[in-house]
Amino acid sequence: MSKVLPISFEFFPPKTEAGKEKLVTVHSELAALAPEFFSVTYGAGGSTRSNTRDTVLGIKAAGSDVAPHLSFGGDDETGVLELLNSYRDAGIRRIVALRGDLPSGMGRAAQLVHANELVEFIRKHFGDHFTVHVAAYPEIHPEAASYKDDVHWLKEKFNAGANSAITQYFFNPDAYFHFVNECHKQGVDQPIIPGIMPITNFTSLQRFSANCGAEVPRWMVQKLKSYEDNSESMVAAGVEIITALCEKLVVGGAPGLHFYTMNQINPTSAIVRNLCG
Ligand code: FAD
Repeated sequence: MSKVLPISFEFFPPKTEAGKEKLVTVHSELAALAPEFFSVTYGAGGSTRSNTRDTVLGIKAAGSDVAPHLSFGGDDETGVLELLNSYRDAGIRRIVALRGDLPSGMGRAAQLVHANELVEFIRKHFGDHFTVHVAAYPEIHPEAASYKDDVHWLKEKFNAGANSAITQYFFNPDAYFHFVNECHKQGVDQPIIPGIMPITNFTSLQRFSANCGAEVPRWMVQKLKSYEDNSESMVAAGVEIITALCEKLVVGGAPGLHFYTMNQINPTSAIVRNLCG
């Protein structure tokens, strides 16, 4: 499948030596699935600045195309420019440009810079050097004033020069197709790639989903709840659910799939292999 439909894999930058060693293996196993690129997240407020950079450079050195996530975080223009220059000099050709969130405890002490302004900044200083991906929210960003407003701001990110969007994860394909349709109506014709969250842990999935505004449908909650004491069965049920979701997205015309791997080979690898088979 990856030969006809581009896939990409997201990592977070590991903090420990053991995590770093494990990621080398995870990267090498997932690279065998021929993704278009990997991406590496950036901690709220720029808290993983050097860790993200080191992880990105390690993946690049291992021979893969890789996109650092980036937000202004705690940096001023000079700091962001410095980081972007270092990526350009290392041969990096993609960026995932975000507003990001404030780290907990920072309150209103820091100013967030919207992603459309970061995209403008990248285009102003680097022209077309970077392919720029931005975030999109089929179930609408939790802070958005309205559905219409969120579509408007996504369009502004494209107007500023973004090449494609990767979505927040969702479990209802209709939410994605409706969103893409609404974007088309507003003149957005750039690719909007579904973000896919494989299921590993029911409790953390519920907590995380509540925070980021992703709805876990009742039928999924009821089904996964029954496996709370059996993580192996939960992962197997999750692989089945997410494979079916991906199949619907592919059949419905999604231009690619971006997997939130949580730095694990499985269940992402199992899902991709199901789709290929
Ligand atoms: P924006 O596009 O700036 O939007 C934020 C909110 O403001 C929305 O409600 C939007 O409607 C509104 N808005 C947008 N532009 C304007 C404007 N110019 N004026 C007024 N309102 C505006 N978080 C991390 O900390 N690190 C990561 O690495 C990371 N990676 C992510 C990758 C993907 C694919 C996705 C979907 C999310 C990721 N996030 C990450 C989470 C993201 O940082 C949060 O969702 C954050 O709250 C919004 O970032 P954004 O880039 O979508 O912001």
